[in-house]
Amino acid sequence: MKVGVLAVQGAFAEMEAYWRAEGADVFEIRQLADLGRPVDLLALPGGESTVQGKLLKDLGLFDPIKKLIDGGLPVFATCAGLILLAEKIDDPGSRDGTRPEQWFGALPVAVRRNAYGRQLGSFTTRGDFDGKHDFPMTFIRAPAITDLLSPDIEVLSTFDGAPTAVRWRNITAFTWHPELNATA
Ligand code: GLN
Repeated sequence: MKVGVLAVQGAFAEMEAYWRAEGADVFEIRQLADLGRPVDLLALPGGESTVQGKLLKDLGLFDPIKKLIDGGLPVFATCAGLILLAEKIDDPGSRDGTRPEQWFGALPVAVRRNAYGRQLGSFTTRGDFDGKHDFPMTFIRAPAITDLLSPDIEVLSTFDGAPTAVRWRNITAFTWHPELNATA
């Protein structure tokens, strides 16, 4: 399987290591030419969603990647990657829920960024994930999914009753970091 990892900012090295360990043939997406390669799955890593979105626009990657996502290419997204995909932003202070124009808006969820506050900014917990029990889940300045905007979304994990990983059509997205605990 050929996995293209968005590598403009953030934790793309960890995402690459995860997919290599899964046996995938991994390449980085840094510029437009990289999108010419055959790809079976797009991986969107953690990092800083605002910066990633801006770089996607500046590098001319935003529209072609959006086309791939909307066209059904399988997507695996963690944390900032999930934020980039979200249809709606639910940050305190964002009154009308409008998402920044450099976010894809491809996944029908509302997200609140940095939802766990300062003290709980980063933590690991264990729980059920996609039929597996006692699965380690590491949250790093994680967003929360505050609303599911389609009845067809499958919830793969929860924390404190709120969804933390979801699957919808071609997209699997996590507020936590499966790539950091794959072997734990
Ligand atoms: N809080 C970051 C953001 O808003 C996401 C953090 C992460 O990807 N680990 O983009």
